Amino acid sequence: MAQLISFVFPIYNESGNIELLHETITRVTAELQEDLEFVYVNDGSRDDSLELLKSLAERDERVVVVDLSRNHGHQLAVTAGLDIVRGDAVVIMDSDMQDPPEVALELIERWHEGYDVVYAQRRTRQDTFFKKFTADMFYRTLNALSDVEIPRDTGDFRLVSRKALDHIRKYREHDRFLRGMFAHAGFKHVAVQFDRHARHAGETGYPLKKMIKLATDGIMGFSSKPLALISQMGAGFSLLAFLGILYALVVRLFFPTHAVPGWTFTVIVILLVGGLQLVMMGIIGSYVGRIYTEVKGRPLYGIQEIYGRREDD
Ligand code: UDP
Ligand code: MG
Repeated sequence: MAQLISFVFPIYNESGNIELLHETITRVTAELQEDLEFVYVNDGSRDDSLELLKSLAERDERVVVVDLSRNHGHQLAVTAGLDIVRGDAVVIMDSDMQDPPEVALELIERWHEGYDVVYAQRRTRQDTFFKKFTADMFYRTLNALSDVEIPRDTGDFRLVSRKALDHIRKYREHDRFLRGMFAHAGFKHVAVQFDRHARHAGETGYPLKKMIKLATDGIMGFSSKPLALISQMGAGFSLLAFLGILYALVVRLFFPTHAVPGWTFTVIVILLVGGLQLVMMGIIGSYVGRIYTEVKGRPLYGIQEIYGRREDD
């Protein structure tokens, strides 16, 4: 039986792109040996995207349309798609022609070579200066802070094998940053370089507010450094407080004429309490960090392969 490749397209107000996208992806994938499935996830579009998608589904039986109850955001729209695809591999792509459909073929080629996650990495991008600048800053910060290595200049455009997909489906965190999840999951992965186009029609569904939310999810979801920072500050300030207390005592004992009555006691109390508070916040922070890890409920490990186990074992 032929294998099945699924495509996931998140759709938010893309009426100007849907026809062209479907036409292009159909043409580009015509030569593939595998069966195909195109999953379009309508993420609460306010234009006539849904009508266009429904008519696509009528014309092409390989099309599946998932209509979400409201706008849930790009990351959740993709997740909904990943949850229902049936393919042996799935390709995640933007629907505005920024991710060139031809590149999907290269991703599929690498999958044939045995890779589980093939991510498309931007060699160049046609975006506003503001977008490029903020994206660059974001990747720098993220890489400095993150506990896992998240590849630079990659979006969600990637191919995922059935094996990696089954694993990724176990991640049920609400504030999602898919790129981070894939990095966290591991598996045999490889990058494919591509030139990212400008958006074909319509306007971005990622205004600054959503970009900030995504960036926060990326950093908060994949770094515990901000919490560790509290502990470090606590230690630093406690040391300073200790020196301050010594100074106050020395002044009080050896230069009593310089000490205003009550000064020593007041200074000692302030420094002691301040230092203690930060240290304790650090301790609470460590527990909060652990609680956070537990509630995310991520899978504990992924298995690339098991060798030597027989079917009847
Ligand atoms: N998108 C979505 N829900 C949203 C915003 C965007 O499903 O709330 C989709 C959108 O239709 C597109 C992809 O996510 O297919 C990327 O969005 P967009 O092109 O607007 O972002 P940008 O490329 O400007 O970062
Ligand atoms: Mg776009």
